[in-house]
Amino acid sequence: MRIESILLNSKGVVQKGKNAPKSAKDGAKGALPVYATFDIPDKTQISTITKALDELDKVEFLPNDLIYVKNLGANPPFKNGHEALEWIKQSRVQILYADFSNPKVHACLNYDPENGTMIFINSNYKDNCTHSDVLAISEAIFHECGHGKDFDSENSIQEELDCLSLNVLAHRFYKKKYPGVFDNKNSFLFSQGVSLYPKLFFSFQKTALKNRVADKYGYLQSGDNKHPATKLADDIKHIYNNATYV
Ligand SMILES: [Zn+2]
Repeated sequence: MRIESILLNSKGVVQKGKNAPKSAKDGAKGALPVYATFDIPDKTQISTITKALDELDKVEFLPNDLIYVKNLGANPPFKNGHEALEWIKQSRVQILYADFSNPKVHACLNYDPENGTMIFINSNYKDNCTHSDVLAISEAIFHECGHGKDFDSENSIQEELDCLSLNVLAHRFYKKKYPGVFDNKNSFLFSQGVSLYPKLFFSFQKTALKNRVADKYGYLQSGDNKHPATKLADDIKHIYNNATYV
């Protein structure tokens, strides 16, 4: 299955390169712009993305996990993976691999009302196609769908928390569905991505979670119209304002 693209939004990403839309613009104030250069995926990559979407389609949030993340101060933008998949189809979102100027970016969403929404996955992962890779990529796609759902280019700490809760909830669902699937997965995609946030969200102390989100997203506003800041987002903004980040 090949998903054709349409909508879009640039939450902290600027594109360049041969296929970049002309209207690419800077992302949130204070963000280092990230450049993405993308190409048409090959058969293997399309197959990985297709498998990732098939897995995403079956994601259900574990009831206690959902209560937990809501109490913590995150509001998942979708009820389950199926809802995100429907959004992808209806919005005709295109999913592509891209080279990012910042190699630490796992994935990003580009919102462009003219050319359509695109979800880019870091091309460092383009040959990763084991089952755990497929699941990790589906989590990254889920996160970006959360950003895309509001059809704007505004971002906030709260919006990031809400989108992070999607991959956290999906990750815990996968761990239950496929016991051991993430064991000994220590590459960057896992250790600094899909396996990190579930650990931080669900650790008893929330200091590490707050510091991590402050470090990565603290430059953003606490909340926005569609994502009113919870105490958690305000706390993170406060940490950011009182810390010196280079
Ligand atoms: Zn995000």
